Amino acid sequence: MTLVGMTRAVEAFFVRHRERLVWLHAAMAVVFIAVIGVPVFLPDPPGDATPLTHWVTFANYALWGLWFPLVFLSVIFTGRSWCGLLCPMGAAAEWANKRGPQRAIPGWLKWEGTPIVSFLIITILGQTVGVRDHPEAALEVFGGTMLAAIALGFLYGRKKRAWCRHACPIGLLLGVFSRIGAVQFTPKMPRPGGDAWTEKGVCPTMIDLPRKEESRHCIQCFRCVNSEAKGAVELRLRRPGTEIERIRHHHPNAAEVWFLFLGTGVALGGFLWLVLPQYQDLRQTLGAWAIEREWFWIGDPGPWLLMSVHPERREVFVWLDFILIVSVMAAVMAVMAAVMAAATATAAWLAGPGFRSRFVELGYQYAPVAMVSLVVGLGGMLFQPLGAFAGTAKGALFAIGILWSLWLGWRILAAQGVAPTRRVLASLPGLAGTLAVALAWWPAIFGL
Ligand code: SF4
Ligand code: SF4
Repeated sequence: MTLVGMTRAVEAFFVRHRERLVWLHAAMAVVFIAVIGVPVFLPDPPGDATPLTHWVTFANYALWGLWFPLVFLSVIFTGRSWCGLLCPMGAAAEWANKRGPQRAIPGWLKWEGTPIVSFLIITILGQTVGVRDHPEAALEVFGGTMLAAIALGFLYGRKKRAWCRHACPIGLLLGVFSRIGAVQFTPKMPRPGGDAWTEKGVCPTMIDLPRKEESRHCIQCFRCVNSEAKGAVELRLRRPGTEIERIRHHHPNAAEVWFLFLGTGVALGGFLWLVLPQYQDLRQTLGAWAIEREWFWIGDPGPWLLMSVHPERREVFVWLDFILIVSVMAAVMAVMAAVMAAATATAAWLAGPGFRSRFVELGYQYAPVAMVSLVVGLGGMLFQPLGAFAGTAKGALFAIGILWSLWLGWRILAAQGVAPTRRVLASLPGLAGTLAVALAWWPAIFGL
């Protein structure tokens, strides 16, 4: 079977079973409850528990060792298939929408910064409540997100997924990374004018289908696919990375690039505070400084909604911890974003006139290294079963991310019409920025 034949077969399969996806979503809702809800009611696992011997350990591994890294890696091969086919949160938002007042989507929700803020809040809160270590925290973060998805879905949009398009904390992340993926949904008869937002039509994420140019908002629900209709959308495969190589034809967006910069930094900050010994020194110094000023409240535990308060597991965060974790994450985020932005700005300046558009386009080159950093750094559990080969596998994946980012930078510059000699020069800041990201993640991934 040819590649096109295979694509048509996949397309036909999902179109045929489109209506049955609801059962898959219902099954995933049960899995969600089992992994997020049930562990809270079970006793803590003994020290020697494994995913095969205790449900709480299994649920933790399923969440951080499988779901987290695999969802991100899957976008390269299957785009946002998680969103369209499996995610119980998006499905719940849409289910609620059918029963709600279907109000107009408000401006604050449509604002490009809303999913960025949503991602930052969830990432930082996840760290302060200890989402990776405590089932109660996982329930708070994932259960709270589910409730927010249902509430926003209930209130806003008409037969749409306003939550998925505008507010989901991981939707934008998956959207940016889906741009490097091998899957795209393309209008058979595209209309010029560039990507646009519309509530008309079948697309649950408000894509104006004939003008669709980018993969970002497509959750791969197959509702727009119709092999009979000439004006419909079809599934196509492409070489991974092509959308970013030709990003100027795929609706580049400054908010998305800033999200890439800020998101990489905040995720890194969320890991560095745990592994850097300097964090403990800073904590001691600040604690002593605050006590000297008689700010004794800083040593009190805060509400469990904001920070980890688990005396039974010998982990109780006080206000000092909360303030310090948030500050360190914000500081690392600011520094990383500044480094990546400075490297991108230098590359754009070296590339020639038209600074703004060059800057935005070149910012996308960091997508592979950022994604690999997230997968390898925060999804390290995935590699545990590889034992002694875990380091090699992480290193190989990391090297692929770095090289891919460099290649994308080169190709974006070529698409911008930069001559080869000048391109070499304009590639150097991208090399420096990519290596800076890699170096910053080094202790988180390979240890100190
Ligand atoms: S955007 Fe978020 S809530 Fe919506 S389907 Fe994707 S992951 Fe799920
Ligand atoms: S473009 Fe098509 S496949 Fe993608 S989200 Fe919209 S309707 Fe679903």
